[in-house]
Amino acid sequence: MGIREEELLQTYFGYETFRPGQAEAIDAIIKGQNILAVMPTGGGKSLCYQIPGLALEGTAIIVSPLISLMKDQVDALQSLGIVATYINSSLSTMEQQDRLRDIGKGRYTFVYVAPERFESTMFMRALKGMNISLIAFDEAHCISQWGHDFRPSYRSIIPYLRQLNDLPTVMALTATATEEVIEDIQQQLHIHHVVNTGFKRENLSFHVIKGKNKSTYIQSFLKERKHESGIIYTATRKQADALHDQLEKRGYQVGKYHAGLSEQERKATQAAFIHDEKSLMIATNAFGMGIDKSNVRFVIHYAMPMNIESYYQEAGRAGRDGEPSDCILLFSPQDIQLQKFLIEQSMMDDVTKQGEYRKLQAMINYCHTHSCLTTFILNYFEDINQQEICGRCSNCMERQEKVDITEEAQKILSCIKRMGERFGVGMTAKVLKGSKDKKIREMQLTSLSTYGILSAYTEKELTEYIHFLIAEQIIATEEGKYPILKLNHQSVEVLKGKKTVWMYTAPIPNTEPTDFQ
Ligand code: ADP
Repeated sequence: MGIREEELLQTYFGYETFRPGQAEAIDAIIKGQNILAVMPTGGGKSLCYQIPGLALEGTAIIVSPLISLMKDQVDALQSLGIVATYINSSLSTMEQQDRLRDIGKGRYTFVYVAPERFESTMFMRALKGMNISLIAFDEAHCISQWGHDFRPSYRSIIPYLRQLNDLPTVMALTATATEEVIEDIQQQLHIHHVVNTGFKRENLSFHVIKGKNKSTYIQSFLKERKHESGIIYTATRKQADALHDQLEKRGYQVGKYHAGLSEQERKATQAAFIHDEKSLMIATNAFGMGIDKSNVRFVIHYAMPMNIESYYQEAGRAGRDGEPSDCILLFSPQDIQLQKFLIEQSMMDDVTKQGEYRKLQAMINYCHTHSCLTTFILNYFEDINQQEICGRCSNCMERQEKVDITEEAQKILSCIKRMGERFGVGMTAKVLKGSKDKKIREMQLTSLSTYGILSAYTEKELTEYIHFLIAEQIIATEEGKYPILKLNHQSVEVLKGKKTVWMYTAPIPNTEPTDFQ
């Protein structure tokens, strides 16, 4: 790392040292190497292109899907004495033309644009005549079809770039990317060098809350965390409206944000939240991509989201200032039905749907695992099997009563086997319970030796057991709308008595005689 970059860090931004990954990314760009930087939210990605942009001759083009943020980013740079501008659809045609003229003359060090801008011949003409120092793709996961927020306009920039005489050095930046997405970004943008500082956010504590009344939970939580800034994400607009009204009636300073509101209303609540006039924001996932509010102390999900990518991105809006913050997911089994409904209803083709079901299953597993939640998320993204624990998530905190459930697990597994590995969670729980359900009788599942073998538990508890075993990969699932339960290598180990299964806070069997005893 050259002295010059450190000088720029100190003189322009007032920081003493680089954060992990920043120096490596900056160095590569200055040497003219394309680079992908994967860093957690709040990790300081912007500096990775801002410092080379200042150090190199010419104009840095920053492509960002976040039109609403461009003005703030440009204002922030201007306040540091840096010459920057943006072009997007919020400007009049006249303003766009004026700016473009100045851009073409090389007057700016930084120019922020939306991906669609490359489709404009006037813009492309200006680019061709310019000295471009680098081109940065912010939120680069939007380029990949495998990402959770694919934007076709982002991908279609690539052929336009080829029209330039000299290909500029490319930097891609993202906070969320699975291996698949990383590879795709690399391939699309010809990047060989990746700086990946991982996704770990040491200041976030994850919690999954199950079996509680959601609105009562939120009210008692808010009583304890008065005056703190927080976001509550709901799965639907209707939920957002209802919760907003409920909390407003109780005197909370609460804003609301969803796609059903006018642009003016959305802008106003967003501003009120960012400036701390409203401490709480109730919103659907329409809110927040790129929201740069540093003091959000908690993010509550009123319902389970569709996948871990979205969850981590939304929850990650907490604690950008590095202070301890909480990410709480309120789970109820109905959440699964809602997400399946949304997948079914979407226009996706069957293969994409199948992929969405696979991601949904991982999200469901997150809600049922008894392992460390932080490690679960990291393992999901990094596709490794780390056993480390964070010591601060709800699962780590609740680790007092460890119960040996090997016998229950064996009964469940043998029931899956006797049912021919052809059924899902609901039917299996019914057979284990010994339900008199019509379907069970019609399919003659009542004659199985495992019928009613766990009748001391309720169907709900058995469902919980099965979800837990899936989350711990002791039961496999064949993905689809109704995942079919299958045995795997671990199931066999458990059935043979070679593996013990532990569960924290296991359901307590009902020892009262039931119909079946
Ligand atoms: P990201 O885009 O990765 O979410 P930002 O670029 O918005 O993160 O940076 C988050 C915060 O960290 C900003 O307030 C930024 O000024 C600050 N920051 C970035 N780099 C450093 C550094 N080296 N030292 C101290 N603060 C930094």
